[in-house]
Amino acid sequence: MTLSLIEVKKLSKESLTQDDIEYFRNKYGKKFIRALRIVEEKKVIKYTFQPSASTTWIVRGRARDYMLIPKTYCTCRSFYQEVVIARETNMCYHLLAQQIAEIRGQYKTLDSTDVERRKMYVEWRRTD
Ligand SMILES: [Zn+2]
Repeated sequence: MTLSLIEVKKLSKESLTQDDIEYFRNKYGKKFIRALRIVEEKKVIKYTFQPSASTTWIVRGRARDYMLIPKTYCTCRSFYQEVVIARETNMCYHLLAQQIAEIRGQYKTLDSTDVERRKMYVEWRRTD
């Protein structure tokens, strides 16, 4: 799932106009509203692990964290059910939120270590 150039341009603006919001709502429905809320609540996080300098994107959910591969994959249940199994859509609102957050620079950055990453991955990789 990749946003079009026009969409990236709209999202790059300092503030979204009512027209922009209308456009995204028509295209993505309530997924967009949920994604925007996640971004505003700073729940999109980019971890950098040292010494490898590898990065991982996370969305902090109510019950747990979801690990994302931007534009490609999310460990949440709806990605599995709606995208992988039912093929109804090509993304969940976490993936949309990550794109919006990255474009707008509205994400949290956290640093950790590779040792910690191995422990966190056990939790993040869960797909239940
Ligand atoms: Zn998801």
